[in-house]
Amino acid sequence: MTIEEIRLDHAGSCACGAVTVKVKGLAVAMTECWCSACQKETGGSATHSVIVDDDDIVFDRASLGRFERVSDTGRKVTRLFCRECGTSIAARPEDVPYTGLRVGVLEDRTFFRPQIVMYARNAPHWAGFPEHANIFDTQPEAAAR
Ligand SMILES: [Zn+2]
Ligand SMILES: [Zn+2]
Repeated sequence: MTIEEIRLDHAGSCACGAVTVKVKGLAVAMTECWCSACQKETGGSATHSVIVDDDDIVFDRASLGRFERVSDTGRKVTRLFCRECGTSIAARPEDVPYTGLRVGVLEDRTFFRPQIVMYARNAPHWAGFPEHANIFDTQPEAAAR
């Protein structure tokens, strides 16, 4: 699969502004995920994330809440959110050094397009998948590692 190289230098925040985030470096991938936990997180749709090295992201942590969940494939994932307004900020799988930053928190989202669709088998019948994305029934190992 071909992943186009996207260099990041972006800032963002939650809806109320209590959590701020800065991200730099190369995007490892850009993903759309339809797993059941992501559908709960969004209220019924997919999450859209920029996958980056843990070291390339800086949070203002004062209002950052954490919730640990187990993914459909059994890995532990810590979801990060604003404790004040509930905005989803990111998800961190325990076994890889990557963070999935929810693209909606960034001020500039124009660079984003999903390259990988995950858990397509869990998507509702009305969902349409982005053109040119690589579609996976569950999770691609290449994107997870
Ligand atoms: Zn907030
Ligand atoms: Zn998911």
